[in-house]
Amino acid sequence: MAAAGTLFIISSPSGAGKSSLLTALLSRYNSDGRMALSVSHTTRAMRPGEENGIHYHFVSKDEFQSLIARDAFFEWAEVFGNYYGTSKELIEQALAKGIDVFLDIDWQGARQIRELYSETQSIFVLPPSLPVLEQRLIGRGQDSEEVIAKRMAQAVSEMSHYPEYDYLIINDDFEQALQQLHAIVLAGRAKLRPQAICHADLLNQLLAG
Ligand code: GDP
Ligand code: ADP
Ligand code: 5GP
Repeated sequence: MAAAGTLFIISSPSGAGKSSLLTALLSRYNSDGRMALSVSHTTRAMRPGEENGIHYHFVSKDEFQSLIARDAFFEWAEVFGNYYGTSKELIEQALAKGIDVFLDIDWQGARQIRELYSETQSIFVLPPSLPVLEQRLIGRGQDSEEVIAKRMAQAVSEMSHYPEYDYLIINDDFEQALQQLHAIVLAGRAKLRPQAICHADLLNQLLAG
């Protein structure tokens, strides 16, 4: 696919801060509209404050199964007992228009996407410690004790997948982590392939002498 935009994958153990980092990235650095978040489908329950179609498309297990049957997903995975999937809609059109698309997906989904697109840039976010991770999950105040225990129990096995990624961000100081994320995005745009597509006319003129 000749896409001018870059497909970024961001993963972390639950609570490490990927949603906060992406929210801040888009609210601060997206005045030119060159970044878009992919909205996944999920079968998990809606959290307080979440909106259908904004944070996720919330669907039943039956609806999710019929979307799988209709081949609507690029990838899907079972995470913490719920199903999550990235729909094909939007992503290809956005990338073709030169928009960078961010997928907040787990390591299983990241593996599937890398097989489909060799050009992805993937980022793993780690917390500064396990107690801090637990504090963030508790402090977020949106999951029950049982859900938090389940997520903490999976954190180490999820973190063990960090070597599969291109970039690693330790989200200790939020501002510093955000600056690193922004730098990765800017570097992605300056890569040869997107630059050659965006500036095809200029390159032709320059080389024509
Ligand atoms: P969070 O970890 O606190 O952001 O909790 P969520 O319930 O929103 O997400 C749980 C996990 O599912 C996270 O690891 C997400 O990255 C992952 N996830 C979300 N959407 C998708 C998706 O479309 N595909 C896959 N494979 N994973 C997803
Ligand atoms: P994820 O999307 O990875 O599950 P969130 O973005 O929801 O994580 O972050 C979990 C909680 O940690 C949120 O309450 C968020 O405000 C907080 N948080 C995120 N990054 C930091 C940070 N660098 N320092 C302190 N708290 C943070
Ligand atoms: P949420 O948990 O809903 O993803 O994040 C709520 C808001 O808090 C987001 O707008 C995010 O940018 C912000 N936020 C989360 N952690 C920090 C932090 O440590 N420092 C700052 N300055 N903002 C944060």
